[in-house]
Amino acid sequence: MIDFHVHTFLDAIAAKAIPQIAKNAGGVTPVYSGAVSDLKPALRKFGMEKAVVLNIATNPHQQKKVNDFAISLVGDDMLIPFGSIHPDSPDALEELDRLKEAGIKGVKLHPEYQDFFVDEERMFPIYEHIAKLGLITVFHAGVDIGFPRPVHCPPERLLRVLDCFGDAPVVAAHFGGWLLWDSVLEELCGTKVYLDTAFSYGRMPPDYAREIICAHGADHILLGSDMPWSSSADEARFIQSLDLPAEEEAKILSINAKRLLHI
Ligand SMILES: [Zn+2]
Repeated sequence: MIDFHVHTFLDAIAAKAIPQIAKNAGGVTPVYSGAVSDLKPALRKFGMEKAVVLNIATNPHQQKKVNDFAISLVGDDMLIPFGSIHPDSPDALEELDRLKEAGIKGVKLHPEYQDFFVDEERMFPIYEHIAKLGLITVFHAGVDIGFPRPVHCPPERLLRVLDCFGDAPVVAAHFGGWLLWDSVLEELCGTKVYLDTAFSYGRMPPDYAREIICAHGADHILLGSDMPWSSSADEARFIQSLDLPAEEEAKILSINAKRLLHI
């Protein structure tokens, strides 16, 4: 199985960052320390072959450091690092080039942490550059429990920008928009966007998950956990509990991710 949505930090940073993020989110409990040295043992324990590591530059000054960390993981036997660019960074486009040249396969953009609305015009040059490079984009989508509303990436705003990416794949995390699943059904199901399943186990009614998978098609759903905030094993179990046809389940748990990542 492939987990398309995990987070990790340099060991020295994890000890500080994890309690802080947990507190901001109202006390979620991490399932591993968040330190990169503990990630692979945790993934193995949870039955994962590989995982996409999503890094986020939460301010423009962090961008280079965050991406240096991502690039340091390129070529790992289990971890597939994605980079991040910050919309306020003057060299965002050049940084995308650097990521591509280093062998990075995608970027994570987090409209809440990075303070932009997904359909703001200033984002378009970034999206078009991503399209040109053929990188995968993962958006945090829907409510983030650590941030007040308004939601910066609701389904109807994401829908407006999907075409900017051309043939480059776009993934909307948390089944397309955490806690906004009615709008996901209305706006995103049937489009070319991929939805990851992160942070759903015990939090999303199974009926919603089943309905979205049915309406959107299993070819465009990717197993994700949001480690350390939920475990890959639990999120895989959630998908397995939906009683989908075996073929669809296999696509969600690994086949789609392997196709997208060329592995
Ligand atoms: Zn996440």
